[in-house]
Order: sequence, then structure tokens, then C-alpha cells
Amino acid sequence: MNLLVLGGAGYIGSHFVKLSLELGHNVIIVDNLLTGHKQSIPEKATFYEGDIRDRVFLNKVFEENKVDACIHFAASSLVGESMTKPMKYFDNNVYGTIILLEMMEKHNVKKIVFSSSAATYGAHEVMPITEEYETNPTSPYGESKLIMEKMMKWADVAYGMKYVSLRYFNVAGASTDSTIGEDHNPETHLIPIVLQVPLEKREFITIFGNDYKTFDGTCIRDYIHVEDLVDAHIKALEYLNQGNDSNIFNLGSETGFSNLQIVETARKVTNHPLPMKLGDRRPGDPDKLVATYQKAKKLLGWSPTKNIEDVIGSAWGFHQAHPNGYKE
Ligand code: UDP
Repeated sequence: MNLLVLGGAGYIGSHFVKLSLELGHNVIIVDNLLTGHKQSIPEKATFYEGDIRDRVFLNKVFEENKVDACIHFAASSLVGESMTKPMKYFDNNVYGTIILLEMMEKHNVKKIVFSSSAATYGAHEVMPITEEYETNPTSPYGESKLIMEKMMKWADVAYGMKYVSLRYFNVAGASTDSTIGEDHNPETHLIPIVLQVPLEKREFITIFGNDYKTFDGTCIRDYIHVEDLVDAHIKALEYLNQGNDSNIFNLGSETGFSNLQIVETARKVTNHPLPMKLGDRRPGDPDKLVATYQKAKKLLGWSPTKNIEDVIGSAWGFHQAHPNGYKE
């Protein structure tokens, strides 16, 4: 297929591009390189540098390429930042998606796979979260993802545009061959920050809070290997190609790990003592987030294949091969 990948130079987008090329798809990438990395773009992909909010630019991309489906990763994605800069999130995420859907309609592109988030659910007491749970986002980031989903729903009603929205839980890890991985600046996510200690970029890891309602007091999250995650996007495309209706799926593993368990696993994987300190709670962190994936299993034929050692081990492999990320 001819796949237009918006945000294809970012962390998750680049893993999707790699897999799609390996499967023989033709890949066109659009990325403004604000958080994406040019070094992650394979030669085999066609690359357009620009912003999805730029109607003239995006129109040109659609005019110059026959697009069978869009895979939409282009978004700002920091929950904390969204609390202080909400309009940045509605501008980049929501307005950007308006332009994209407009262009898809204009150029008669009828399929989109969308990168959504567990942040659409907000806080819930009872785990694991199913797709039936109420959506009540607690951040502008989560709200922007929910609005984007709703816009796709109405684009389906009006134009017959079919979408699959994939609500990611905690994505981590890197490609098994260590060529691409996670390189954010600033880094805010637990696993890459933990690995900065054995990489000698920080002296210790600070765990934010140990008085949560969990078995060891630290927050529990559901980690998905980025290669498992992007495989679900390929399966979502197959699902749409078979003529199925628009749908929403959780991508999680039904298994939660506490922050202390992550540090312990990283100690084993890296063979480093990994000194740790306890810090204050980070505002907005729910105690526990774990998803069911039964719907994705049933309708997409998707299940996670990798465990937490694979997740942390592959991230460690990438960071060892690229101690300064994509910078030379
Ligand atoms: N966390 C931490 N120390 C750090 C970074 C994160 O203790 O330096 C905790 C964070 O408070 C949360 C968990 O790790 O409980 C996962 O956070 P992350 O930002 O990786 O993902 P989130 O679940 O917020 O999307």
C-alpha cells in the first residue's frame, strides 16, 4: 500500500515506518522535525519536511502521491506541558487533524489509523480499563486526543472515512536491532530516564511518590514494546482493508509494573546498582493504569509478544549504541 505517515520521524512513527518498509509498503513521511529526528528516516521512504497545519504544503503532498491510507502520529504528547500550554495542544493536535481530515476528504483518502492515548480515559478506580470505560480526560493532551477521535467519527458519518483509533498505554523499548529508539529532549518518561543512570548521564533515579494505593506504594503502569505497538497499526490497516467499520482499541498488556519493579528490572538488565531516591509525587499521576487488550485480540488478531525484560533490554541496546541519542 501507499502509506502516508504523519509524524513518521518521531519515536513511534519511525518504528512504524521501519516495519512497513520491511513488509513491502511504499512509505511517504511528513514531519516538521520539531521533535522527530531526520536521522531516523530510512532512505527508502519519501520524506516531506513540513507541518500538517500548513494546508498548502499538505495539499501538495497529497497531489504528488497516491495515498491509500494515513497513519497519524503527528502530535504534541507531553501531559505535563499540556497543563501549562493547553492551546499549543489544541492548535497542533486538533487544528492539525482538521487540516489532515480536510485534505483526506479532498483527495478521496478513506482510511486512517490514529495514535490515541490512555489519557482519553482519565482517572478510574477499577482496573483493567476496557474500551467501554467512560472517557473523562484530566489533561489538555488527553482532551485533544479525544476531540481528534470525535472528529474522525463525524468524518466517517459525513464522508465515509473509516478510522481505527489505538489508545496506547505506556509505550517503551526500541527496535531489536538497536538502530532506532526513544530520543526526547527533555526526556520525561521513566524507562529512558532510569537508563540514564547506567549511561552515567545522571547519578540516581528519583521515583516520584511511594504513598500510592498500590502493593509497594509506587505507581503502576502497563508497558507495551514499541515493536508490538506498531504491529497493531499494520493489523488495523488490514482490518480496514477488509471493509470493517471504524473502531477504537486499547493497546496494553493487562500486566502492570510498579515504578520500583521497573528500577529492579533495569538493574538486572544493565547489571548496574542503579542508585534510587524517593521524591515527591508528580502532580496528576494516577495510582494505576492497566488495560485489557481482548478487543484488539478478537477483532485485530493482536496480542503483545514481548515482556518487560524485552522492553527495557531493547531500550538499553539502543541507548548503548546511541549514548547521545541521534546526535553524532
Ligand atoms: N516517574 C518517576 N521518575 C521519573 C519519571 C517518571 O518516578 O523520573 C514515574 C511517574 O511519576 C509515573 C511513572 O514513572 O508514576 C510513569 O511515568 P511516565 O512519564 O514514564 O509515563 P506516564 O504514565 O506518565 O505516561
